[in-house]
Amino acid sequence: MKTINNINGIPLHYARLTNHPYGTRGEQRNFSIDESFLSILENALQEVFEHCPLGIPEVITTAGIFVDKPGQHGHGKAFDLDAVFWSDETLVTTNFIHQKELYLGIESFLRKYFGIVLNYYYPNHKDHWHVDTSVPVDYNETSKSETLYLQLVLKHIYKEEILVDGIWGRQTSGVVKEVFERLGINTPITTKANYIKFLDITGKIAFKLYEENISPKHLLSNLTEVIENLPQQNKIAVREALNSFINHEETATWLGDFEENHNLDAIVEEITA
Ligand SMILES: [Zn+2]
Repeated sequence: MKTINNINGIPLHYARLTNHPYGTRGEQRNFSIDESFLSILENALQEVFEHCPLGIPEVITTAGIFVDKPGQHGHGKAFDLDAVFWSDETLVTTNFIHQKELYLGIESFLRKYFGIVLNYYYPNHKDHWHVDTSVPVDYNETSKSETLYLQLVLKHIYKEEILVDGIWGRQTSGVVKEVFERLGINTPITTKANYIKFLDITGKIAFKLYEENISPKHLLSNLTEVIENLPQQNKIAVREALNSFINHEETATWLGDFEENHNLDAIVEEITA
């Protein structure tokens, strides 16, 4: 075991305290970690931020590495990633609904290094990614967490109509075949090299979409989606307040000036060229 307070020079913080609550930058801490796991984590984060258009962050918050409980955390061989802070942008994992492209871009690269990645849609993981190396990196049709990731990128990155339920079936296999063909990747997805290529291309496309989609119209549709996910008793009032803003004549005129461009085809062509 080794003690660290940064990874690749990026300060490692803890933000699950009364005076440093979840979602803030928290405070720098020491964490115990298995040395071989650390070197995988270093390589993974190196690649994530090499590709991420926001570059190297200022702070990463973690819910913990070595935790005295059964499983990989008990050996210092698992990492819980809460949030990433750049100088003027933040990814908090609970914000998946309105930060999908950035979230899925990061997750795609994490999956190249960790056989286990539990995300927002996996039970009890809305507020952090759990990553560990207890199983090899590959795609297994019976893996709920891998199928959830796959369906999420097919839906939100490749804009395919697909149900996100974590279950591999006819619909998922059909869409995978179609998307792999479009990307020029061989099937089946269960062959490691094909899966890795898919992760790599998907990560790059997600980051590109993140960069290009920051238009007021896209941000407004993010806001609408966040509202639709609120508890029922809060939803109605917020939705009506937003609608009266959107439907105001001057707002409508102003929003009419922005184009929502879905240039996925051009991005796919550029990345796979
Ligand atoms: Zn964990």
